[in-house]
Amino acid sequence: MSEHQLGSEERPLRVAVVGAGPAGFYAAEALLKHKELKIEVDLFERLPFPFGLVRFGVAPDHQKIKTAAVAYERTAELEGFRFLGNVELGRDIGFDELRACYHQVVITTGAAGDRKMRIPGEELAGSLPATEFVGWYNGHPDFQGLKLDLSGQRAVVVGVGDVTTDVVRLLLRSRDELAKTDITRASLEVLRQSRIREVVVLGRRGPEQLKMAVKELKQIAEDPQISVVIDPQQLADARRRVDAAPDRYDSTTLKRLDLMAAIARGELGQPGRAGSMRFAFLRSPKQLEGDGKVERCVVEKNTLVPAGDDFKARGTGELETLETNLVLRSIGYVGTPLEGLPFDERSNVIPNHEGRVMQDGEPLCGVYVSGWIKRGATGVIGTNRADSVATVHTMIGDVLNACQGQPCLAAGAAEATHTAAAVEARGAGR
Ligand code: NAP
Repeated sequence: MSEHQLGSEERPLRVAVVGAGPAGFYAAEALLKHKELKIEVDLFERLPFPFGLVRFGVAPDHQKIKTAAVAYERTAELEGFRFLGNVELGRDIGFDELRACYHQVVITTGAAGDRKMRIPGEELAGSLPATEFVGWYNGHPDFQGLKLDLSGQRAVVVGVGDVTTDVVRLLLRSRDELAKTDITRASLEVLRQSRIREVVVLGRRGPEQLKMAVKELKQIAEDPQISVVIDPQQLADARRRVDAAPDRYDSTTLKRLDLMAAIARGELGQPGRAGSMRFAFLRSPKQLEGDGKVERCVVEKNTLVPAGDDFKARGTGELETLETNLVLRSIGYVGTPLEGLPFDERSNVIPNHEGRVMQDGEPLCGVYVSGWIKRGATGVIGTNRADSVATVHTMIGDVLNACQGQPCLAAGAAEATHTAAAVEARGAGR
């Protein structure tokens, strides 16, 4: 590599990564460990502290998953790395300003928004996204003022993914077990006062469309405090549907059904434990009712109808009412738009091709994405590593092409370092 070529010792490639969660750290790591190019990374984060979902999303009783942060700490020690906390894109620095200061910008802001149920009563007190509950017990500064009414015996959780497994454990596990974790002291005290004994989990489709990982469901079923209740008739119906079209279902679906069948037969744990998680499949929330706060959740029974290669839920008009003061919607995280960047409102991601941000069908030079804002809120923490490595592969390819006279770097591609320092000063001022 010739002197003064981009990526040389004399002229390092300067990259801004926006968002210090897993995808951001994995992108920084892949960039800083690149063997041929000299790269400097400034990692921007709107909160004063790093680690995003690992710190504020992973459940406190899943400490092993949280050890991912050890690898991020090692990345932070690599030469060329800087962390700029308390700096928010759009608030403290504009997108164009950022682009003018760096050769490349990678957006890794995740999916902090929540999907809405779009039903009457959704805005009542006592109805909230699971994301807020998760942020609250993990000490996320945005959610420490959350008011929870845990005085009723029953909570309802909508959605059957792994965020649901987390919130069910937090609502029903032994408080003494939770006390051994890094749950915040304030939320542990509130949970100690909780009278919730039953969590009804609403799945809009059938048991064969359960999204929970086998391992996660098994952990709940084996918890000495929690009985898992599944209607054997619903399971038998699901098994019949799967047997009728086996090609439509993968081996994980079969494993989940086997596990649920074992649970229904009482092979994992016993009924009559202190708390219970009751699955109510083929049920959608129709309306939340109450005088200024949630008192009832009206639920509609569904039937499954074919939709392409899959099935979707269709309401039957038959209603049931559940008395409850707490309804957590755990129906998926969504990305939120960032000022100055394109956004796909249907899939809630920044449109991209192989990590290159696309605007009106053309790549936005020098701007990339990784993580949930790139592909949607799917996968586990480690999924973001491969995702960020792939984006960095694209970025490096673009740098090498630019060196050969095909420039596609950020608009300014400036050599300036002063703006980052100014931004740092602004962040530190708060
Ligand atoms: P998810 O796995 O996508 O599950 C979302 C659930 O919400 C699905 O059951 C979905 O049902 C349902 N849903 C969506 N819209 C709905 C609506 N309008 N009404 C009723 N139900 C609706 O999402 P998640 O639980 O938020 O998890 C996000 C990602 O993080 C996943 O990849 C998950 O594996 C991961 N995660 C992992 C862990 C762990 O490993 N411990 C913990 C937490 C999260 P349909 O299938 O019918 O759409």
